[in-house]
Amino acid sequence: GVPRIVVIGGGFGGASCARALRQLDPKLRVTLVEPNQVFTACPFSNEVIAGLRELPMQQFTYDRIAAAGVTVVPQAATKVDPQARSVTLADGTSLAYDRLVLAPGIDLRFDALPGYGEAAAAKMPHAWKAGEQTILLRKQIEAMADGGTVVLAVPAAPLRCPPAPYERASLIAHYLKNRKPRSKVLILDAKDGFSQQKLFEAAWKELYPGMIERIALSQGGRVTSVDAATNTIVTDFGNYTADVASVIPPQKAGRIAEIAGAADNTGWCPIDPVSFGSKLVPNIHVIGDACIAGQLPKSASAAHAQGKACAAVIVNMMSGKPPEPPRLTGACYNTVEPGYAFSLSGVYQPKDGQFAEVEGATSPVNAPREERRREAERADNWFKTITVDIFG
Ligand code: FAD
Repeated sequence: GVPRIVVIGGGFGGASCARALRQLDPKLRVTLVEPNQVFTACPFSNEVIAGLRELPMQQFTYDRIAAAGVTVVPQAATKVDPQARSVTLADGTSLAYDRLVLAPGIDLRFDALPGYGEAAAAKMPHAWKAGEQTILLRKQIEAMADGGTVVLAVPAAPLRCPPAPYERASLIAHYLKNRKPRSKVLILDAKDGFSQQKLFEAAWKELYPGMIERIALSQGGRVTSVDAATNTIVTDFGNYTADVASVIPPQKAGRIAEIAGAADNTGWCPIDPVSFGSKLVPNIHVIGDACIAGQLPKSASAAHAQGKACAAVIVNMMSGKPPEPPRLTGACYNTVEPGYAFSLSGVYQPKDGQFAEVEGATSPVNAPREERRREAERADNWFKTITVDIFG
């Protein structure tokens, strides 16, 4: 019969893949399983936190994906049986598949940081999944008195969007500089170096002198526990009391990946980079933040590229052709104030069983402001283009 492909997760990876499958072969039966009727995108959600943008600009429906011939099922997947090749949904019904694509994004590890569970997240928002958490953090910052300290707790790698904590620090500082100029941002970091560090630090010096302080791993910055009742954050070095705390805990692949048996003991999913095939379970591909992708950072642009490449692999396999090694491009923009951005872009290909960066470019540290302004325009265009391509 006609091959049935089920995709779990309608985010940047899964929605791209489902749509691309139908584009490549309109005969395929493609089902996208996603519990939310509206998707809320994380890129640019730091702007929402800083009051520079409203949440509806981050939100997209699945109407056009359905119109492209994808069957969109508004349910969460609760079980995967790789032997029977079936997916169970929250309403108890099930879907049979020939190939399954897992694209569930991340889950927060609510067991990894003592004191930080779901209840604590309602007080110390991670805002690492966009939506309610984004708005909560924004409201807390808006309600904070001038002279307060916003503390950002940043986990060790791997994490979703490695530079985003520093973008968040920058944009919060931008809000504070204009509205509450005696306030500060304190970053407690479980890492020493970070993505685009030189560019961020130069921008902080220029735009927010004395406003952003960062305590790195080797200075005792690793957060070891939190107490939500008192907004206390404990590190290797000492205790900090925050007026507002955004605690980003360690992460893992979305829970359904673990249920399917596709996650290893790191919590992430090992794959063959040529086919995105799970190394642990047959007939399953894993894309997006959930998979282990070597040098490819966990980003929307990577998830989108993987979604399309994975669709091509599946269509080739269905017609008995060997997969062609993908060549993925990704770009990641960071905004430090409106009209001031810089970027990192790369091309990634499978090498020795992992994705390796074969070409890369990063914005120069000493670029004129005009170039930063152009990068901010490119960032806007990037978001428009990727979201129209997937949801439009
Ligand atoms: P997601 O986009 O999170 O999609 C996963 C989907 O799976 C969700 O819709 C979820 O509801 C669904 N799902 C989960 N479990 C189930 C289940 N059991 N059944 C059915 N559905 C399920 N990336 C960039 O490229 N550029 C940026 O500027 C950028 N900025 C960022 C800023 C912030 C603050 C953050 C937090 C992230 C940012 N990112 C950025 C990263 C980007 O958001 C992620 O890398 C991207 O969303 C990953 O795509 P994904 O498809 O793997 O997961």
